[in-house]
Amino acid sequence: MSEAVNRDAVSTECLIVGAGPVGLFAVFELGLLGIKCQIVDSLAHPGGQCTELYPDKPIYDIPALPVCGAQELIDRLLQQIKPFCAGFHLGQEVAELARRADGRFNVLTSTGTRFDAGSVIIAAGLGSFQPRRLMVPEAERFEGKQIHYRVRNAADFRGRDLLIAGGGDSALDWTLDLCGKARSITLVHRRAEFRAQPASVARMKELVAAGRMRLLEGTVNALNIEGDRLAGARIMGSDKALTEVACEQLLAFFGLHPKLGPIANWGLALEKKAISVDTEKFQTSEPGIFAIGDINTYPGKKKLILSGFHEAALASFGVQHYIYPDKRQFLQYTTTSPVMRQRLGVAPPD
Ligand SMILES: Cc1cc2nc3c(=O)[nH]c(=O)nc-3n(C[C@H](O)[C@H](O)[C@H](O)COP(=O)(O)OP(=O)(O)OC[C@H]3O[C@@H](n4cnc5c(N)ncnc54)[C@H](O)[C@@H]3O)c2cc1C
Repeated sequence: MSEAVNRDAVSTECLIVGAGPVGLFAVFELGLLGIKCQIVDSLAHPGGQCTELYPDKPIYDIPALPVCGAQELIDRLLQQIKPFCAGFHLGQEVAELARRADGRFNVLTSTGTRFDAGSVIIAAGLGSFQPRRLMVPEAERFEGKQIHYRVRNAADFRGRDLLIAGGGDSALDWTLDLCGKARSITLVHRRAEFRAQPASVARMKELVAAGRMRLLEGTVNALNIEGDRLAGARIMGSDKALTEVACEQLLAFFGLHPKLGPIANWGLALEKKAISVDTEKFQTSEPGIFAIGDINTYPGKKKLILSGFHEAALASFGVQHYIYPDKRQFLQYTTTSPVMRQRLGVAPPD
């Protein structure tokens, strides 16, 4: 990526990569110091692992909250950072990061958004979540054309013969949404039990009983290719019986898995797929780039939300010092600091 100044880029004092719990709390800590930020996540929603992997599970080790649902924690963090009006850029992965001669950073996302950032906080957790792919020969050839792992535009599937693979909420939600709009739908899932919401499963079974769609138990075993087109797939049942299904479009929803992805190419010192940082300000081997939460490593590191919150606080002071080296730093309490209360939009102290 070019190291020149890009006039069309979104200018920000700090760019946060990752909107998991730790990235969200960094918005708060930066906000208290009067630093504005933008935040990017490859997922379509904030929340990281809490939202993606265990939204309904209770967490018991958040200070002062004896029990808190994982999604509830994210909702509370979003509420807490509201006063700071961070810019959210969701559904895009931070792909490139380059230092400029003036010490600022050019950042580019997978959808083409450019940032001109004074500093960067990487709060990328386990890495960006990627869809699990269909593991059959030649699947890659059709990805984005006739094989899809997410629906970008539902209208693309109108009037088509669809094969949908998977048993979670995404598979069931799209099956129900597209039934009646597609010419035909076959849902294939490897077992009889579904992970999706019971109400969605019940509705799907009603549609099958009414002859409006087909359900197969099995896995996609091979693709049927005619010329340069995907014409269908071969499904292998648990009894090893093979069924041929004709389809024009195949949608596979096998869930997401985290991958370090482009971060590995940013020239940062890494240790076992984690970013090495100091423990004074959680700065990486590159001045001005900080790493907090599950993505970093240092002696004694524990991958806990609590640790990430502490790291966010100290990294924010590190950011402040990097972008305003002459500014005197001092600790203020939200209880008593008029300027912090003003930033929070609450009444001044009595
Ligand atoms: C089942 C389960 C239960 C858990 N229970 C607890 C518990 O009780 N207590 C506790 O303290 N911890 C618990 N944890 C761990 C806790 O969830 C993590 O420590 C926490 O989520 C880390 O937060 P984070 O913000 O660092 O990263 P994450 O939550 O992983 O968020 C990182 C975000 O960065 C995004 N991202 C990554 N790379 C990029 C990129 N290049 N561009 C754009 N976006 C990117 C990802 O999409 C993701 O949304 C649990 C974890 C699991 C899986």
